[in-house]
Amino acid sequence: MVKTTKEVSKKTKYVYFFGEGKADGKGTMKDLLGGKGAGLAEMSRSGVSVPPGFTITTEVCRYFYKHNQKLPSELNIQFNQAMVKLEKLTNKKFGDENNPLLVSVRSGAKFSMPGMMDTILNLGLNDKSVAGLSRLTGNERFAFDAYRRFIQMFGNVVMGIDKDNFEEIIKLKKEQKGLKEDTELTADDLKNIVEKYKQIYKEKTGQDFPQNPWEQLKMAVDAVFKSWNNKRAIEYRRINKIPDDLGTACNIQVMVFGNMGNDSGTGVGFTRNPATGEKEFYGEYLTNAQGEDVVAGIRTPKQIEELQKEMPHVYEQLKTITSNLEKHYRDVQDFEFTIEKGKLYMLQTRTGQRTGLAALKIAVSMVKEKLISKEEAIMRVKPEQLDQLLHPMFDLKERIKYKPVAKGLPASPGAACGRVMFSADDVVKEKEKTKDPLLLVRNETVPDDIHGITLAEGILTATGGMTSHAAVVTRGMGKPCIVGCNAIIIDEKKQEFSVKGNIVKKGDWISIDGMTGEVIIGKIPTGPSEILLVLEGKIKPEESKLYQLYSTFIGWVDKVRKLGIRANADIPRDAKVARLFGAEGIGLCRTEHMFFAPDRISLMQKMILSETSQERRIALEKLLPLQKSDFIGLFEEMEGFPVIIRTLDPPLHEFLPKTKEAAKELAEKIEIPEEKILQKTQSLHEFNPMLGHRGCRLGITYPEITEMQAKAIIEAACELALKGKKIIPEIMIPLVGHINEFKNQKEIVVRIAEETMKKYNVKIKYMIGTMIEVPRAALTSDEIAQEAEFFSFGTNDLTQMGFGFSRDDVAKFIQEYVEKKILKDDPFLTLDQTGIGQLIKISIDKGRKVNKKLDIGICGEHGGDPESVKFCHRVGMNYVSCSPYRIPIAKLAAAQAVIEQEGKIHYTFK
Ligand code: ADP
Ligand code: MG
Ligand code: MG
Repeated sequence: MVKTTKEVSKKTKYVYFFGEGKADGKGTMKDLLGGKGAGLAEMSRSGVSVPPGFTITTEVCRYFYKHNQKLPSELNIQFNQAMVKLEKLTNKKFGDENNPLLVSVRSGAKFSMPGMMDTILNLGLNDKSVAGLSRLTGNERFAFDAYRRFIQMFGNVVMGIDKDNFEEIIKLKKEQKGLKEDTELTADDLKNIVEKYKQIYKEKTGQDFPQNPWEQLKMAVDAVFKSWNNKRAIEYRRINKIPDDLGTACNIQVMVFGNMGNDSGTGVGFTRNPATGEKEFYGEYLTNAQGEDVVAGIRTPKQIEELQKEMPHVYEQLKTITSNLEKHYRDVQDFEFTIEKGKLYMLQTRTGQRTGLAALKIAVSMVKEKLISKEEAIMRVKPEQLDQLLHPMFDLKERIKYKPVAKGLPASPGAACGRVMFSADDVVKEKEKTKDPLLLVRNETVPDDIHGITLAEGILTATGGMTSHAAVVTRGMGKPCIVGCNAIIIDEKKQEFSVKGNIVKKGDWISIDGMTGEVIIGKIPTGPSEILLVLEGKIKPEESKLYQLYSTFIGWVDKVRKLGIRANADIPRDAKVARLFGAEGIGLCRTEHMFFAPDRISLMQKMILSETSQERRIALEKLLPLQKSDFIGLFEEMEGFPVIIRTLDPPLHEFLPKTKEAAKELAEKIEIPEEKILQKTQSLHEFNPMLGHRGCRLGITYPEITEMQAKAIIEAACELALKGKKIIPEIMIPLVGHINEFKNQKEIVVRIAEETMKKYNVKIKYMIGTMIEVPRAALTSDEIAQEAEFFSFGTNDLTQMGFGFSRDDVAKFIQEYVEKKILKDDPFLTLDQTGIGQLIKISIDKGRKVNKKLDIGICGEHGGDPESVKFCHRVGMNYVSCSPYRIPIAKLAAAQAVIEQEGKIHYTFK
């Protein structure tokens, strides 16, 4: 059949030879080629020596899943053409008995998912070509080593045979012959192992190991596409918020061999230290080995400096290539290489994963090196990474009491202390039983451990290097980790490990310092980070390098961001921390928290139990000075900055005793009969307390409460004003749904404020505004803004009422909602931008239309969530308010929002 031109031009390009596509900057092909494919292509284009190969696009993977795991028929021709091209380039033939072309089949998605998907090496070998390879290279040992690796990887990845089945055979062989290393096995040993491997293969699959290379290839490509949806890959994407519908690419690449003897080897590295960010060439390698040996942590690799001695020429070449790659990509590169008989090949380059500390250090250094702009630097630190740096470190006073029992490699910084578990499953099981922090201790971790790693406080492994699975994964998560701690000897059967004569059993406490690599037996309390210690004046800024980095970086962030950052703080101590972090005011002070203090709760209870408004006023009178002194404390900490104080919000029954015994106790204390207390508790009972008698509804039925609170606020402000202090109180009415509710409360506040200022004979500037947390308020914001001077979005309640999800019951189903992809995120953690966000947008538009000066912010939990903060910037809020410790995160997110909006920088984190 003759095809029309239209049909021909519609033909999709599914296969790209390395070097064919542009892989970075604008027009990046990462989406289509995946990160690995794009990196290989880009390196090939710029003349770096990369074994030739081609990429089957992610589009094929998406097609594969859409069409019941079938590949598009057009792929065949393109695929075959590419294979022919590889044969021509190498002068070898796929499946040839004498001169076989061998390839690797490698997965690789847009975002790097280290070790989560599958790769098969040495494909194309069979009983005949292994002999050919042996003749060709004159190296029988190598040929059979390659073959046994192939059967093992193919058996595991394609047919799902547990690796242990194969490992056992090697282990047994080594034991029989009294050998320590795999490299000591002879050609005959390996021949024998190959036979045994094939038997295992047959036993487990019921079929012979496939001898036809084309069949091998087809099965391997299928397996790579299938690995996109294996359990650990799905789990990894969930944790890292990588969309499930991207798909992986599949790379077919000519094999080069690091296992051809001692002039060969394989390794991985970073252009800078991924744990500390120091500018030092960093890497590990093994001689006479293939790539996955280093990554899997089976043999403890050599440091890259060693290579400088062993193969100085290759070392220099590697250093030059990788530093050029860093300059080219203008970011730290994580690379993989293989040396075949003294010749260096690059096999992968990608943006290096790093700890929070390293991210900060690298961003700041690269600006100083003029490699990137300050804006780019801001984009390169994830808000969560900044968070890591504020996390606890060991309490130094406690720490010096202990001597470390061992030292491993400091793979991911931070202090962790917890009870020892020896398997990921045990971590999961134990977590269901206890709140104790747990540490996962393993010889090495594997991608399947991801569920346990996620729940553990920290990881300790006996083998493996800085680029082992455990190291890479924990760095991404910001979790403390020590690897390659050879001194610990794990006995999995006995569920214990021994270290220098000590025995540590499952469930025992140990502590690890991911910054130094030290392992300590015992439970050392953790304390605040250096940054905090400097902020609190406990150590000097010049004593902390970390603080200096932080303050340089946050200085840039502060210049860029447009959103103001306030804190939610109820007591002076929190306000103080908030100021240390640079809060520009308080966005929410919840006055009810002041009433729960032991010396106040009984006064509050007396007030609630009052029969007449007269009685109630007497009780309130006693509360007034207490409340006033709280406000004075808060105002003093926040001198010169606005402080939003919300009038009483929770339903009154929250303050009353819940049980008969508690009622009895209270009765004695406040001299009100027990019966009356119980009666009152009962009468206050509500079917839907969240929608009940709370918020401004309280102030409307009990105006004397609002009166007392307004008086306490304004008196506090007046007294400080008389001392010459600049105080900016802002009074906020909660849960307003109708303009008349607001008017009612505003009248009270204004009246009291005027009276009070007259009494003190001082004028202070105060504002009165409302929370927008009832959908009706959002929709009628044009009415409300005529009376209110500020809006603060209470997104917790707004989400609750907008979604109709009870905040207190949502836990029962939200996890399942996220798992079943009904919702992308828990809307109480990350603002639902399309729905609840719509209410916010409408409210801002309507509000600003009648009152251009309306001051607008957010005070729900979302004020500290990076994605939500960015949304707040885009919809034009004036500030966000969050808990004091999240201020740096909110600042960074706010600055990133500006840069993203201006669209100057195209940079993705993942
Ligand atoms: P991952 O994404 O898990 O790192 P890779 O596809 O990078 O998987 O492959 C794992 C290892 O196999 C790498 O360390 C690499 O060095 C080695 N490898 C892959 N392809 C080849 C090849 N063509 N020749 C030699 N080694 C290879
Ligand atoms: Mg790799
Ligand atoms: Mg509320």
